[in-house]
Amino acid sequence: MSNYPKIWKPFTIQKGAKTSLKVVRGEGIWLELEDGQKVMDLISSWWVNLHGHGNVEIASAIAEQAQKLEHVIFADFTHEPAEIFVENLLAQTSGVFDHLFYSDNGSTAVEVSLKMAVQYWKNHGESHKTRFIAFDGAYHGDTFGAMSAGSRSVFSEVFNDMLFTVDFVSYPETWQNDDNIEQKETDAIAQIESLLHQNSHKYAGIIIEPLVQGAGGMRMCRPQFLQKLEEAAKKTGVLVIYDEVMTGFGRTGEIFAYKKAGTCPDIICLSKGITGGFMPMAVTLTSRTIFESFYSDEASKTLWHGHSYTGNPLGCAAANASLSLLLKSTDKIRQIEENHRGFVKSVNSAKIERIRQTGTIVAMDFVANGERGYLNSISKTLKERFLEKGMMVRPLGNVLYLMPPYCITSDELGNVYATISEIAETLG
Ligand SMILES: *Cc1c(COP(=O)(O)O)cnc(C)c1O
Repeated sequence: MSNYPKIWKPFTIQKGAKTSLKVVRGEGIWLELEDGQKVMDLISSWWVNLHGHGNVEIASAIAEQAQKLEHVIFADFTHEPAEIFVENLLAQTSGVFDHLFYSDNGSTAVEVSLKMAVQYWKNHGESHKTRFIAFDGAYHGDTFGAMSAGSRSVFSEVFNDMLFTVDFVSYPETWQNDDNIEQKETDAIAQIESLLHQNSHKYAGIIIEPLVQGAGGMRMCRPQFLQKLEEAAKKTGVLVIYDEVMTGFGRTGEIFAYKKAGTCPDIICLSKGITGGFMPMAVTLTSRTIFESFYSDEASKTLWHGHSYTGNPLGCAAANASLSLLLKSTDKIRQIEENHRGFVKSVNSAKIERIRQTGTIVAMDFVANGERGYLNSISKTLKERFLEKGMMVRPLGNVLYLMPPYCITSDELGNVYATISEIAETLG
């Protein structure tokens, strides 16, 4: 049929899908639509944008690099932007990570981390260690390995039989005035310890979204939990992988969630904010110990993995510009955190529950018609109501969250908080 859409949209039921809003330009937190309407981007366009749309420094860095070298095969060859980025990024990890592997999206950063973990053990002659522990509600991407490590849901359902087996434990999510968190953490650690004790010989690693589970509904856990998790892992030597694809680059208030939590994972995956939202890119960082197990003459000990766009110079140039902007954004990030904190304390609506904050991310569950849980209708209603007010949000079920670019002002945030309260009151 001729009226089928030619573009097959991501995460979208095609039949009956509304026409997408056409964006003609972006500046700071604003997106301008075809009809001239301006919309405030409160979700950093799928969590990738850090410094606002149309950032001139990043745009110029890419333009300059594009005139020198757009791309080169990254085996046998290298280039300056990639070498600068590795130096500058690793310098931010204070010696925790010594090696960086380039790829081009969050799912592949995760795939790489899983392959590294399994092969690390294999390289040490422990080829039975292939299993992972992951968390209920986890999201690690849409490729098969990343899907396997993620919580089974309607999104993975078709493929569930094809995914490798992972043991899921509960994610001790918490919120303001939660008086049961210690118990939830104790239970989660007990589940992990029990799995590790029963089968210490088969686990390669534990993979977790530290401090905040993104797509699973902005579920937040405490640094204390990550510390206890690390302790449990260290006892058996199982590797700890942090999927910081969303939490990286300042979202949690610190440059990385692992720093905020005071923990030292073995591997971290980064993407989304890495180029400030300009170019698709990802990296997987590892400790010296992991890298050393691959450092060998033997072909079988090599990580045989790569992508055509691995280490793309334009991506690296954007990442360098974005990182230097980020290092100058500490005050802006503090300001957002402080504003969110004030909002969290002041919220007083029967429609809003489980309000929670980690750094620049604030989230809450909306309750309408006395119903809780995952309600598609409320997600749609909220999206529409906010859009009428010129604000772009994308609730996850009944969870409304804000994850703005760091250039948002306190006044703008004030308007957003007021709009949330106003909309809450109009819901049935
Ligand atoms: C978005 C996301 C991914 C997947 O990244 P893509 O670039 O969409 O493939 C993986 N892990 C987490 C935590 C994410 O938020």
